[in-house]
Amino acid sequence: FTGPLEKVSSCCYRIPKSYRADMRVDGLIFANEKLIEAIRNDQAPDQVANVATLPGIQGASLAMPDIHWGYGFCIGGVCATDPADGGVISPGGVGYDINCGVRLLKTNLFLDDVKPHVRELVKSLFHAIPSGVGKSGKYKFDPKETRRLMGEGPRFVVDRDLGVPRDLAHTEADGRIDGGDPDEVSDHAVKRGAEQCGTLGSGNHFLEVQVVDAVLDADVAAVFGLELNQVCVMIHSGSRGLGYQVCDDALAAFRNVPGKYGINLPDRQLACAPVDSAEGRKYIAAMRAAANFGFTNRQLLMHQAREVFADVFGRSWEDLGMELLYDVAHNIAKLEEHTVDGKKKKVWVHRKGATRAFPAGHPEVPAAFRAVGQPVIIPGDMGRASWVLVGAPGSMEKTFGTTCHGAGRAMSRTAAVKDAAGRRIDKELESRGVIAMASSRLGLAEEQPRAYKNVDDVVDVVHEANLSRKVARMRPIGVIKG
Ligand code: 5GP
Ligand code: MN
Ligand code: MN
Repeated sequence: FTGPLEKVSSCCYRIPKSYRADMRVDGLIFANEKLIEAIRNDQAPDQVANVATLPGIQGASLAMPDIHWGYGFCIGGVCATDPADGGVISPGGVGYDINCGVRLLKTNLFLDDVKPHVRELVKSLFHAIPSGVGKSGKYKFDPKETRRLMGEGPRFVVDRDLGVPRDLAHTEADGRIDGGDPDEVSDHAVKRGAEQCGTLGSGNHFLEVQVVDAVLDADVAAVFGLELNQVCVMIHSGSRGLGYQVCDDALAAFRNVPGKYGINLPDRQLACAPVDSAEGRKYIAAMRAAANFGFTNRQLLMHQAREVFADVFGRSWEDLGMELLYDVAHNIAKLEEHTVDGKKKKVWVHRKGATRAFPAGHPEVPAAFRAVGQPVIIPGDMGRASWVLVGAPGSMEKTFGTTCHGAGRAMSRTAAVKDAAGRRIDKELESRGVIAMASSRLGLAEEQPRAYKNVDDVVDVVHEANLSRKVARMRPIGVIKG
């Protein structure tokens, strides 16, 4: 990036709108001195500037410290548009994996209880839970059922005893985004999804056994039910082939849409439609239905993990205290109320590799957490750490209620594979105390820890900016990868 990156504070840099005539607002990148150099050497800041040209954009084009290059919009990007101001919806601002997200499942087991069984546990998880590109699972829904599932979200499978009602209350939006219309999802997309609900997917997705490595905020940790050395399970997956196809269908349908509405774009990958246009409404209805599929996919992954633990430890999952802490979406666009320039407005918040982080008191934070704020689940990498944070007031002031979603890539997949040549990533992880199983050796290379930024650095920034605060650091002990 050759443009200006002005330091606003120790954790924020600005691309002023004067940089390019077509920018409607500034770009703001949340990062510190440690992270900004690598960001400067990436093309992602250009994408932040590109997004600043979108019709109806409010505030600024935002990026989180886990920013890296993505399709049209950068990963780690946040953009809010106002329908009353000609605001647009853009599939690239959500991403191909609609409602990719993370959930954290607790247990009442501690490191010492699990340590002797980690290898067996990881093996059992790997064999029970389908992973890998295009893999189908044991739950088969016909097209009609798949459409119902998209309308209802995880409630559809909870009603079939694949979970309990209290799981729903601990899922963003209660696991069901209103206004989804399964009939706007193509037959092809439905067909791709019908056999994939409850499967992990490819390399970046994972199911990880973790222990609480440090508690940074004892009061909030107590509310979340987390304590030192406790074992948890983190699950990262999205809407599989179904969501991918919904995005692909929308991009095909949007090809001539910007031109039709007189929207000039600096990059074709930013294809968008006015929120209130027929094309915009169709995408929104399909995207919401795909999001409900994503929540359901993670519900079924969690159910399978509960079954494996019950089997390995010879106790029911209820007895093992395997309660869902929370499930967050990190690839989604949502209509939310925010205050912009002192005025309350309903805006379309695009979060692409970014996590909602509502603070204490927000009506959309589940009752159990309303006094402290929304749990925010941040995966890091399979060798170092991941985090549990809590939404903080700064997010409402600065980032449309948003924080980061992970560590973010530091190397492209190709660079990571090259870097791993001649090494055995699984052995390296084992020597660090992590048992890893993956459906492909290549996948492990692409996903090796140093392919990602250090998540501790990323979390430092969002903590300092008061977008979300540190609660607990998690350390991996076992992981299954796509
Ligand atoms: P994305 O949704 O952008 O593909 O991934 C989100 C984040 O997950 C990445 O930025 C990375 O920090 C994290 N991540 C990827 N693979 C793993 C893994 O195997 N274990 C953990 N704990 N985090 C991971
Ligand atoms: Mn994904
Ligand atoms: Mn993801």
